[in-house]
Amino acid sequence: MDLSTASLFSLRDLIRRKEIHPREVVTALAERIAARDSGTRAFLQADTERALAEVENFDPETPLAGLPIAIKDNINVLGHPCSCGSRFLAGKYTAPYDATAAVRLRRAGATFFGRLNMDEFAMGSSTENSALQATTNPWDPTRVPGGSSGGSAAAVADGTALAALGSDTGGSIRQPASFCGVVGMKPTYGRVSRYGLVAYASSLDQIGPLSRTVDDAALLLEIMAGHDPHDSTSAREPVDSLVPGSVEDLKGITFGIPREMDREAVAPSVLKVFDEACDHLRSLGAELCDVDLPASTHAVAAYYVIAPAEASTNLARFDGVRYGLRCESPADTLDLHTRSREGGFGPEVKRRILLGTFVLSSGFYDAYYQTALKVRSLLRREYATAFSRADFILTPTAPEPAFPLGDRTSDPVSMYLSDLFTIPANLAGLPSISVPAGFTVDERPLPVGIQITGRAFAEASLLRAAKAYESTTPWHQQFPYKED
Ligand code: GLN
Repeated sequence: MDLSTASLFSLRDLIRRKEIHPREVVTALAERIAARDSGTRAFLQADTERALAEVENFDPETPLAGLPIAIKDNINVLGHPCSCGSRFLAGKYTAPYDATAAVRLRRAGATFFGRLNMDEFAMGSSTENSALQATTNPWDPTRVPGGSSGGSAAAVADGTALAALGSDTGGSIRQPASFCGVVGMKPTYGRVSRYGLVAYASSLDQIGPLSRTVDDAALLLEIMAGHDPHDSTSAREPVDSLVPGSVEDLKGITFGIPREMDREAVAPSVLKVFDEACDHLRSLGAELCDVDLPASTHAVAAYYVIAPAEASTNLARFDGVRYGLRCESPADTLDLHTRSREGGFGPEVKRRILLGTFVLSSGFYDAYYQTALKVRSLLRREYATAFSRADFILTPTAPEPAFPLGDRTSDPVSMYLSDLFTIPANLAGLPSISVPAGFTVDERPLPVGIQITGRAFAEASLLRAAKAYESTTPWHQQFPYKED
């Protein structure tokens, strides 16, 4: 059994047939992390002993049957470190409770193994904003894994995690999934409780899965989804069973492609994969049509007002008193706040706090924040109209394949534009999935994903459409690394 290419479903079957024990899975992953992760650097921590102790109590009849799941380092798991990729918390904060997503996974039989690198406080698109280490792309070590859940995507692609949790505020699950050639899904806003996810922009954040197959993503989402009294924004919508059966055609299904999708802004290698994916969907019986989402051309601008505004209030709790870093011998309270923040936050986080404070300040609130909220309402309405024509909206996940390390670190706006296609679904609160759809034709081929966005709470049909595409294409079976 090659663990680097196995799905959760295939391993669960083996466990239930008593052909393997999940302990062996943990051990094999630990060996692989030791062998591989010094290059990829996706893991901030992997406590093998703890995972081995946990796995001894596994129940083969639970949905995850003891299988190890790795976690982005901004989701609290009791007793595990939770650094958010920040100097503020690294080595100074241990989660005192379980996030609701973790409670539900634990109850479903998961073993928690591995804390994964991320852009500091989930702000970034390349994982280079991690204050702790840079993660590389398993397909090409000179390139970024995407971000902010870059550690999660890289580990799943690299065979060091079977599946992982990420968080997505503007694309942080889907864009790295596309860059690393794995499946990544952001659920409808409110589908998964945010309790225990360290807040970045609360009206946009969602926890979601990164995995090797659509079925695995569906399984993890089904386990985590549903109302939670600890999160008043979690939805009371019933949770359907989400794991698609076998779906091989898309007859009667319409995919809308936004007229505003600027082909000039998309790398030719990505356009080629996208156009081929469109042909493939047609060959499965789907219809493709144009839809209008004019407000989507302002989505990135609106996001970079709304997200920093919310971040500036959420991050106020990092004040040197309550969590993590505290500066040496402060003269007074102001000095304590100032120097703790100065030393604890990296440059991108500081930029966002300043930006957010500015757009919320009196005199600028109407011009920036209110205007951004109007764009958001408009976009929601436009999606509603688009969904009266089409079942799903289809775009590339990102306008480019994984870019070289260091390429965008000195130009924040070029970094922000990597989320051109992912941000609209966050602003509108819609479920959206990235599935592997092909490769660039370079000497070192890089994976490219397509993004399918569905109606609110229509995760089941979205996953079925993704499964139809996946089960009739070979892309999810390509791996950067295979065991000999
Ligand atoms: N790249 C976007 C940002 O920097 C999105 C991040 C995210 O989804 N967490 O804010």
